[in-house]
Amino acid sequence: MTTNQSANGAASEADLLNFGNQPVPRRVILGPGPSSASPRVLRAMSQPIIGYLDPAFFTVLDEVSALLDRVFITNQTTMTVAGAGSAGMEAGLSSLLERGDKAIICVNGFFCERQILMCERLGIEVVRVETPYGTTVDPQRLEDALNANPDAKLVSAIHAETSAGVLQDINTLSALAHDHDALFMTDVVTSLAGTPVEFDEWEVDYAYGGSQKCLAAPPGISPVAISDRALDHIRNRKTLPSSWYLDLNLIADYWGPDHVHHHTSPVSMIYGLREALMLVAEEGLETRWTRHEKVAQALRAGLAALNLDSPVDESNRLNQLTVVSLPDEVNDQELRSALLDEYSIEVGRGLGQFAGKVIRIGLMGESCVPANVFALLGALEHILPRLGYEVPSGEAVAAASKTLAADPAPVATI
Ligand SMILES: *Cc1c(COP(=O)(O)O)cnc(C)c1O
Repeated sequence: MTTNQSANGAASEADLLNFGNQPVPRRVILGPGPSSASPRVLRAMSQPIIGYLDPAFFTVLDEVSALLDRVFITNQTTMTVAGAGSAGMEAGLSSLLERGDKAIICVNGFFCERQILMCERLGIEVVRVETPYGTTVDPQRLEDALNANPDAKLVSAIHAETSAGVLQDINTLSALAHDHDALFMTDVVTSLAGTPVEFDEWEVDYAYGGSQKCLAAPPGISPVAISDRALDHIRNRKTLPSSWYLDLNLIADYWGPDHVHHHTSPVSMIYGLREALMLVAEEGLETRWTRHEKVAQALRAGLAALNLDSPVDESNRLNQLTVVSLPDEVNDQELRSALLDEYSIEVGRGLGQFAGKVIRIGLMGESCVPANVFALLGALEHILPRLGYEVPSGEAVAAASKTLAADPAPVATI
């Protein structure tokens, strides 16, 4: 708290007038999200506010939806849920499931557990198909669960588990759900625009993303795609979804040709998202995937030179989020504080089963450039020996740079 507090702890008049004078530090944000937002996106967000029912704004919505179709690779419905990625998650669970329904949740990380917490509040019976952090769900185990629970209405699995650094084969899991007449939902918050997401090809019924990861827009809006089958399912529910605000059918009606009145759209966020999606289109979706792949490769080469390993099998590792096992000598809090205080670099901590054991390095969107890899590796080289873990000097940046020289990353547009 500030110095001139009143007895009840409220800030004084004098303090209030000083609010906002503290500059926001310039960070290199290499955590699990948010990532840096493109300056073009920030500029786009300062355009004048117009009404969310203004025909000029409907044009913006139509453009955003057309651009989202490209990113989700779908001809079905795309739109946004006004809120963080978790709002997209909750919109899916509360719209697709009714109280008393059964859902099978594939669990391989922290965000799967969040889905289960939401299901519990919604009165949904959850069947867990669980596998340790760092691994993917065995499709056979999902099939067994589907056979044992023929009344399951929905299967959910996370495409890119940011807490565990794991990429999952969504196509296979989705096919199993449909073989058993269940809907299939997936979380693409971290994968969207950084890794192939093929909504139609994989026959996903609902996928939700986030603006603040590989899309390089500020946090606060969740782009989603929904299948015709899932929209029909919501329209034919016996009871209305428990949330009016997150009712995907009502949101789809606002985004659809009739633009039916719902809540006020976050107009500035939608401008920002449109610009972020334009940047994806200009770079090329595939080039952007390649950039995430090549820059991550360089990071891994550098980490290997520091003798740091990952608990995730090479075949399932995410490009946009690398989990690094910490040597016993290294305290995760000390390491993260040194990176932030001395180098202004943010990396993520371990969550759930990984708490205290790992750090998580995000290379997403605007943050996914070679310069950030070099900065981080250089900082680690200086900090790790101080924390008791000796590393060879000068080799990490050299290894990353050699990898990029042999296999260059596409240059990000701005
Ligand atoms: C970041 C993240 C979320 C949560 O997004 P919020 O915008 O923080 O609500 C959900 N799922 C995954 C896989 C994520 O990485």
